Order: sequence, then C-alpha cells, then structure tokens
Amino acid sequence: MLNIVLFGPPGAGKGTQSEKLIDKYNLAHISTGDLFRKNLNEGTKMGKLAQKYMDEGNLVPDEVVIGMVDERIKEREETNGYLFDGFPRTIEQAKALDRLMDKNETPISTMISLDVPEEELITRLLERGKTSGRPDDQNLDKIKTRIQVYQEETLPVATYYKEQKKYNDVVGVGAIDKIFENICKEVDKHL
Ligand code: ADP
Repeated sequence: MLNIVLFGPPGAGKGTQSEKLIDKYNLAHISTGDLFRKNLNEGTKMGKLAQKYMDEGNLVPDEVVIGMVDERIKEREETNGYLFDGFPRTIEQAKALDRLMDKNETPISTMISLDVPEEELITRLLERGKTSGRPDDQNLDKIKTRIQVYQEETLPVATYYKEQKKYNDVVGVGAIDKIFENICKEVDKHL
C-alpha cells in the first residue's frame, strides 16, 4: 500500500494537490478538515464539538481527531493506500497514526511537506475566504492564529518524520502542475 502524509501550513495547497494525488495513484483521501466540515454541515455531535475550536483557529482535541480517523479507515478497506491531508497535526496524532497503520500492517510510505512563505499563505487564505464560505478564512486574526498554532503545535510533527527518514520538502510556490510533478517524483520512489 502507498500511504502518504501531505503536510504543510494552512493555505499551502494541500487540498489542491490531494485531489491530483488521489486521482493519479488511486488513493482514499482522508482530510480531517473536510471531515469536520462535513460533520458540522450535518449537525452531528462531533461537528458541534469541533466547531468552537475551528472557529477560533485552534486544534480540535487529539482524541476526537484520532477517533474520527480510525473510523474513516475502518470504513474503507479496498484501496491502493491512503492520503492523509491535514493530519497528523500534533506529535500525539502522529504516534496514533503509526499505531493505527502498524495494526493494519501498512506503514506510512512517505511524508511530503509543502513549503510556502507566510505572506503568501495569508494572501491565499484571504483570497480563498472570498469564495469558500469558510469563516476561518475570512478574518486576518483567525488566519494568524492558525499559522501560529501550526508553528507551535504542528511543526514538531516534521521532526517526527525526519527522525523516521520519511520527511520530504517540496516547494509549494509556482505552477500547480510543476509542484505536483515534484511531489510525484518522491511518491514514485514508493511504488
Ligand atoms: P487549513 O486550511 O487550516 O489547513 P483544514 O481544512 O485542514 O484547514 O482544517 C480546518 C480546521 O479543522 C483547523 O483549523 C482545526 O480547527 C480543525 N482540524 C482539522 N484537522 C485537524 C487535526 N488533525 N487536528 C486538530 N484539528 C484539526
């Protein structure tokens, strides 16, 4: 199985590149942000619980996120592999993901980190906010909180994968297809 973690700050282009990756390599997409938004729209208990964290630009508690990912993996067994997008976002989540994958005997193949400068992230998120309808994209303070939370709580996850020799940096600025090509160069090593 090909299991990829797509990593990077909010606005790095994970969603865009994920769509292309799941298509090309036939993977099941697990985006925790999308799963929370779906729960929110459907008014589930989990959606209501997640909302206040998302609205403030904070992380949803680990046990909630991990439980949700576990459920999602159990749902879908026939796949070439998984693409994790926006997860893991803390060391605790990274450890839990390793445990989940070990249980299924399909370790994470590689981690791709999209590198985008902060000014560019802010511009992209504000631009996305005009059309996405996402409340967390429409306010500069919330965007800044998300970037700060990323730096403080999520960046250590990069070190976690560096220690496992699975970390790969890809420039996330420039043409979408060029970025995708560079991601594929790394992914193809694991086919
Ligand atoms: P972003 O555009 O910031 O990358 P996402 O769509 O991935 O946003 O996630 C939106 C929000 O959902 C986050 O700001 C956070 O509140 C919550 N969330 C998503 N994934 C996680 C996760 N793995 N751990 C904790 N919270 C998460």
